[in-house]
Amino acid sequence: MELPLLPLRGVLVYPSMVVPLEIGRKKSLNALEQAMLGDHSLVFIAQKDTRQDDPGEDDLYRVGVVAEVKQVLKMPTGGSKVVVEGRARCRVLEVSDHGEILHAEVEEVPETSVMSDEIEALMHTLVDLFEVYVKNSRKMPGEAVVSLNIDDPGRLCDTIVANLELRTREKQEVLEAFDVTDRMNRVSDILSRQIELLEIEKRISGRVRRQMEHTQKEYYLREQLKAIHRELGESDDGEGEIDELRQRLEAMENLDQSIHEKIDREIRRLSRMSPTSAEAVVVRTYLEWLLDLPWTRMSEVQGSLAEAEAILEADHFGLEPVKERILEYLAVQSLSTELKSPILCLVGPPGVGKTSLARSIARATGRQFVRVSLGGVRDEAEIRGHRRTYVGAMPGRIIQGIRQAGTKNPLFLLDEVDKMAADFRGDPAAALLEVLDPEQNQHFSDHYIELPFDLSDVMFITTANLLHLIPRPLLDRMETIAIPGYTEEEKLRIAERYLWPRQQRRHGLGEGQVRLGRPALRRVIAEYTREAGVRQLERELGAICRKAAREIVEAKRTRIRVTNQNLKRYLGKPQVYHPAAEEQGEIGVVTGLAVTDSGGDIMAVEVSTMPGKGRLTLTGKLGDVMQESARAGFSYIRSHRDHLRIAEGFDETTDLHIHVPEGAIPKDGPSAGIAMATAMVSALSGRIVRADLAMTGEITLRGRVLPVGGIKEKILAAHRAGIREVIVPEKNRQDLDDLPQNVRRQVRINLVQHLDDVLGRAFETERAIE
Ligand code: ADP
Repeated sequence: MELPLLPLRGVLVYPSMVVPLEIGRKKSLNALEQAMLGDHSLVFIAQKDTRQDDPGEDDLYRVGVVAEVKQVLKMPTGGSKVVVEGRARCRVLEVSDHGEILHAEVEEVPETSVMSDEIEALMHTLVDLFEVYVKNSRKMPGEAVVSLNIDDPGRLCDTIVANLELRTREKQEVLEAFDVTDRMNRVSDILSRQIELLEIEKRISGRVRRQMEHTQKEYYLREQLKAIHRELGESDDGEGEIDELRQRLEAMENLDQSIHEKIDREIRRLSRMSPTSAEAVVVRTYLEWLLDLPWTRMSEVQGSLAEAEAILEADHFGLEPVKERILEYLAVQSLSTELKSPILCLVGPPGVGKTSLARSIARATGRQFVRVSLGGVRDEAEIRGHRRTYVGAMPGRIIQGIRQAGTKNPLFLLDEVDKMAADFRGDPAAALLEVLDPEQNQHFSDHYIELPFDLSDVMFITTANLLHLIPRPLLDRMETIAIPGYTEEEKLRIAERYLWPRQQRRHGLGEGQVRLGRPALRRVIAEYTREAGVRQLERELGAICRKAAREIVEAKRTRIRVTNQNLKRYLGKPQVYHPAAEEQGEIGVVTGLAVTDSGGDIMAVEVSTMPGKGRLTLTGKLGDVMQESARAGFSYIRSHRDHLRIAEGFDETTDLHIHVPEGAIPKDGPSAGIAMATAMVSALSGRIVRADLAMTGEITLRGRVLPVGGIKEKILAAHRAGIREVIVPEKNRQDLDDLPQNVRRQVRINLVQHLDDVLGRAFETERAIE
């Protein structure tokens, strides 16, 4: 049978399959035309090489398909679209080229298939395999399987292969498999291989996808986020911010390379993050800190001592020894930058001018001033910061202070170093030591900042209320300067010269609008304040100013005089209870002297006797040391009963009760030793203690008197309370040098070595009850 021949490139037509084709080659179009003139039959034979444009006999396979043209659609380009249906496989016997058209002499090969169990089983396998293939292949629509509802095994094979993406050679092999079982086996092999390929493909693409996902997912999300922001009118997409951070970084001069790199790294990290993510917030805060810290910024320190002196003088009344020490300190500092001088520690009660002195030093040396209170700090992290992994982490107080100062060489006041406490979270004092140590503080590391910050240009000054509460290792690093408190006279001067004018200014009062008479001022000091410093005094003066300002505005008065008589109108009734000296001497009551947080104070020690068995009771919140001190005195008295003129056998008939009033305030320390012993002797021997006398001193078991601290504060307190005479240990003699002249004149001071000396002065001999 000779038929017009149409060579196929890439596609194959199988029997009983309807296939659309595009025909463009001239010879093919001619073959089509001729077929249409006849019974629409032609033969399709695949080319071996698809690139061959004008194939001859040798370029064609030897097996083809006889097909029928169902439809022809002529294209405007000259080609045609046809729909053909394959009819049967055929062997090609001869191909003849007639110049404008190809013909082939072919012989149809009929399908011979006999159903058998084997074939049926193979058919099931093929359908199953094909289903797997379709499921795994993304290119195949699921419906492809439905079209497999075929009960002819040969056709089943052809349909499957027609649906697969195979090389022409493979397709041709299936076409050439005339035996159905053979064909089925081939197709089954092909399917298995295809499935395997699909799986490999899937694995690879999975891997690629995972990688892509990682980088691209974020990118897409961020793009989406940007779009959302734009929709919401929040135009800032984070880029402006990154630019600004970069500019700030570049504006920082002489920055250490490693710091620059670190900041740069963090900025790059931030730029990769979504601007609103929680992590970005953390990084941004961190960057703010790094960019705000004055890594290299310094203020110009001025070293003129004369100027410093002038400033200290102008800002503060009195305090001569303190100012002297400060000037010496500054002199040493300006002489040598190498020799690191110790840290200054100003010790004294509140309101004596520690902070304002430090402020003056800052002004005098041209440094920025920062103040950080360490009161109540019990966690090392408060000094050194929290690691950034903590939620809400922050740098410690040192770095916070430095940022606030804005320069790396400020005057840094560490307030209340005596009020720090150590607990399980680490010892803040140890961290502070590192801050203050010139060897280590060049590379101070804050847990939050993570980069070493150079603190060696900082001038640290510390303050404390009580010397003995400062942690020992810290104390060793520091040079202490005591500011014990002011006498009434001194307070008067400070008030007149500094506090009163300042309060007037602060309350907007013109000069001379409100006059405060000196007697009235004295009264404010004596009756409205009870303190070693002048803080409360300043508050009271402020209160006067407020009241006076109101009167001026409301009552339209132009001038006001605050006098002794009308003082109550401004300040109300005196608020302060003053434990003044007792009016009359009593048995068993001795005035002791104590140092508290707010300076020196007088304190009554009371002893009463009652029938009993020589027991000693102590009340009034006395600490261990104070109780031991009382027992030491009691033992001394028992062993020297005779000599102290105390009745024999008292320790079998009498109990003693020692009480120190104002019981809510805890008291401790050995310095009430002689006061308690004297009160006990008085109570046991019935002798009256002089009312105008106060005493302080530690006592030993043998009655010797040991030195105690805070002598100046105590004597000032005694003076304030109207005491005429004090007893202090001989060993405290050199402490008396600091006392103001008028106090020395008005208070008689007895230096003693032994309890006998104390008792010799303590009693009112003439009124003694025998
Ligand atoms: P501290 O730090 O010792 O508690 P402050 O420095 O806060 O005390 O002082 C309290 C107030 O008293 C400040 O306004 C301060 O200026 C003032 N002051 C204290 N001592 C003097 C003084 N010697 N001369 C002038 N003002 C003083």
